[in-house]
Amino acid sequence: MFQNISILGSTGSIGTQTLEVVDNLGNIRVWGLSTNTKIDLLEKQIRKYKPVVAGVMSERLAGDLRLRVQDTGTKIVSGMEGLIEVATIPQAEMIVTSVVGIVGLLPTLEAIKAYKHIALANKETLVTAGEMVMKLAGQQHVSIIPVDSEHSAIFQCLQANNGNKNSQSVYKLILTASGGPFRGKKLEELSSITPEQALKHPKWNMGNKISIDSATLMNKGLEVIEAKWLFGVDLNQIEVVVHPQSIIHSMVEYIDHAVIAQLGVPDMKLPIQYALTYPERYSSNSGRLDFMQNNELTFDKPDLDTFSCLFLAYKAAEKGGTMPVVMNAANEVAVQLFLEQKIAFTDISRMIQGVMENHNNIISPNLEDILKSDSWARDYIKNVECKM
Ligand code: MG
Repeated sequence: MFQNISILGSTGSIGTQTLEVVDNLGNIRVWGLSTNTKIDLLEKQIRKYKPVVAGVMSERLAGDLRLRVQDTGTKIVSGMEGLIEVATIPQAEMIVTSVVGIVGLLPTLEAIKAYKHIALANKETLVTAGEMVMKLAGQQHVSIIPVDSEHSAIFQCLQANNGNKNSQSVYKLILTASGGPFRGKKLEELSSITPEQALKHPKWNMGNKISIDSATLMNKGLEVIEAKWLFGVDLNQIEVVVHPQSIIHSMVEYIDHAVIAQLGVPDMKLPIQYALTYPERYSSNSGRLDFMQNNELTFDKPDLDTFSCLFLAYKAAEKGGTMPVVMNAANEVAVQLFLEQKIAFTDISRMIQGVMENHNNIISPNLEDILKSDSWARDYIKNVECKM
C-alpha cells in the first residue's frame, strides 16, 4: 500500500474519486494537489487534506488562491513548473497522474526521475511517449500501476501469472469497450450529434474529454497504445471487443487458451483503490456485482468504418514514432473544437486523418521531437484544417 501520495489533477473526475478512496482507506496522507482552473474546489481540498504544496496551471488563478489560503501553510505553485513540483514532492512515494492530455507527460517523467511510483490515469503520457516512459521507469525501478479500468483489469488478470507481464505465456490481451453512446449508429447519423448527446455515456460517468473520446472510440484507440507499452506486447496481441454492459473490464488469454477476466460494476473507485493498495486488497464502498441483475453479457466487433478514430489509432500505433503524438494532439484540439460547437462530431476523425497524412514521422523520437510534433499538429489544425 502506498501511504504517501500526491495527485496531479485533483479536481477532475479521477482526482475527486481518488480523494473519496483516500477517505475510505483512512490511512493515506495527501502531500500535493493540483488543478487546471478549479480553484474553488482546490481551496476546499486544501483545507481538508492540508497538502504541503498545491499547483494551479493558470498564474492569475494561482495568485488568487494564494491570497485565499494564506492561513493554511500550503504553498501555492503555478504553471508547468508548479505541476512538476507537485509531482516531485519529497514526501510522496506515489503520484496519481489524473490530468487530461499530453500536459501530463513532463511531470510524469520528472516524477519517475525522482523515484516516484506512478498511479497512471493519464493515458496520453504512454500514447505520446510510451517507449521513453517505460524505459525510464525500468531504469529507476519504479512501478507504473494503471488506473484506467481496462488496464487495471489486465493488470489484475496478470496476477494469475504471478504478475509477470512479459512472460511468453500471455497469448493476447482482450480490451473491452462499451461502444459508447452511439453504438450501432452509422456514419450518416453521426454528423448532427451535439456535444450534449456525446457527453452522455451509457455506463461510465467521466470528464468531458474522455466522454467525447468514448463516443468516437478514440478512447479505445488510446487504450490500445497504452496497453502495448504498459504490458510490453505486440499490437497484434491486443484485441478490442465491444461489451456494452461494461461488466467485464478486460481479459488476458494465456497460451493454453485459459482466459482470465476481471469483472465488477463500472466504478472507477475500484481501479483507483487497487492502484493505491497494490498488491493488497482492502474493503471498499464500491458497488457489488449482482449476477442476477446482470445476467446477460454480450460481445461484438467494433465498427471501424463508422468509428474511424479507432482505425486511425491502430494506424498510428503501427507507424509508431511521432505518429501517435500528432494523432493525440489532433484529437485533443478537435475534441475541444467540437465541445465549443465549432466543428461537427464527424470532423474530429477527418481532422486527425488530415494531420496524420501530412506528418513527417520521426522514428525513435526524443523528448524534443515529441513536444515539437505535438505543437506542429496543433498549429496544423489551426492553420490548415480549420480553414478548409
Ligand atoms: Mg478506460
